[in-house]
Amino acid sequence: MSVRSRFAPSPTGYLHIGGARTALFAWLYARHHGGTFILRIEDTDRERSSVESVNAILEGMTWLGLSYDEGPFYQTERFERYDAVLGQMLAAGHAYRCYCSQDELTAMREAQMARKDKPRYDGRCRHLQTPPPGNPPSVIRFRNPQDGDVVVDDLIRGRVAFSNSELDDLVLARTDGTPTYNFTVVVDDMDMGVSCVIRGDDHLNNTPRQINILHALGADTPQYAHVPMILGADGKRLSKRHGAVSVMQYCEEGYLPEALLNYLVRLGWSHGDQEVFTLDELVALFDVERVNRAAAVFNPDKLLWLNQHYLKTSTPEHVARHLGPFLGRLGVDPALDGPPLTQAVLALRERSKTLVEMADKALPFYREFESYEPAAAAKHLTAATAEPLLAVYTQLEQLTDWSASTLQAALETVAGQCHLKFGQLAQPLRVALCGSAVSPAIDTTLLLIGRGRVLGRLQRALRWLETHGTA
Ligand code: GLU
Repeated sequence: MSVRSRFAPSPTGYLHIGGARTALFAWLYARHHGGTFILRIEDTDRERSSVESVNAILEGMTWLGLSYDEGPFYQTERFERYDAVLGQMLAAGHAYRCYCSQDELTAMREAQMARKDKPRYDGRCRHLQTPPPGNPPSVIRFRNPQDGDVVVDDLIRGRVAFSNSELDDLVLARTDGTPTYNFTVVVDDMDMGVSCVIRGDDHLNNTPRQINILHALGADTPQYAHVPMILGADGKRLSKRHGAVSVMQYCEEGYLPEALLNYLVRLGWSHGDQEVFTLDELVALFDVERVNRAAAVFNPDKLLWLNQHYLKTSTPEHVARHLGPFLGRLGVDPALDGPPLTQAVLALRERSKTLVEMADKALPFYREFESYEPAAAAKHLTAATAEPLLAVYTQLEQLTDWSASTLQAALETVAGQCHLKFGQLAQPLRVALCGSAVSPAIDTTLLLIGRGRVLGRLQRALRWLETHGTA
């Protein structure tokens, strides 16, 4: 059997952290085995599904680079196929029509509960030969085997046995004819030749039912791997209360996709104590059987650490491609004016944890800032700094070669002339050039801001000092 895995989200919201991790595991499983990865959109619940959610899921998958080989298949486009299989199952006696009304089902449940029995459908329509008088509306139920066990040999959970006596006759199609989740999944996994179903362990209880239906259809059963859930630091299921749970929100907040992927894979999977993996390494090493059985705990600090790691170690070109849109949002087109973005990346990557931070810090290289940070100005732009700043201006204006080494030498000359330590000169200069006392090394800062802007900002600072500079 060739290796085929799938990701089968219900489009009822954005792609969240848990879904993305399931998708990643299924994707890695397929890639590791040289198999096929399928994307299937489970949109039969029309009330809760939306086109926006489908788009949000596709956007998240694309951003993460989880490319699919087949699909996206939409279940809403497969109703004819589900009808055909229902017809086949009815004809073969694997399914039957159940005419019980809601009232009847409620009364059945209440009586069972009064007897302290587990509420379940009691199979009263199993043996009907003809519809009751008046042919009332009916659902279609699966004729679940009544004896024996169903064993799920789960690749993560190990052997889990379910007794058929615990499983009642599942509804396959509602009174309006629409198929139910457990049925569509089975038909799709069968038709799509899925060899391994990797999904959240909230579906484990559905698995014996799905296996029984597959047997009734004479289909092979795939392997199953149920992935444990993700918890927040407080031990509760990960949710918005714990911060961002949408994949695209991490994109918005300035994370690199490879940082999130690397983080997600470590949520439950490990290879020794290695923390950082390239995608190629993951494809080579990933083994679904090594996914931990216990729930994983989401740790935003670790994700931030990984993001900084990737900002520092990826090629500047790669980071620049991701940084560009963040500057765009701030109204800057780095291609028009200012240093090549790769130089800004090299200057800032040791001091930025996210692309948002990096873009903020890169702004002075690309456009004028509005005003000096009051605290920085009060500390560094004092009457005493007017003279050294003027000396810097005079030195720099004469420079014919605007390079890091000549800039550094020029500043050292000025510091010597003015009897200042280098830092005593560099800090006011930073405020004059960037508006704040935080910037990369001063020679790099001058280099990236460029001659014209540096001289203009020095003039601006000198003018400002005439009116504001205090002793
Ligand atoms: N559509 C289901 C969900 O989003 C997943 C079903 C499956 O993977 O079998 O939870």
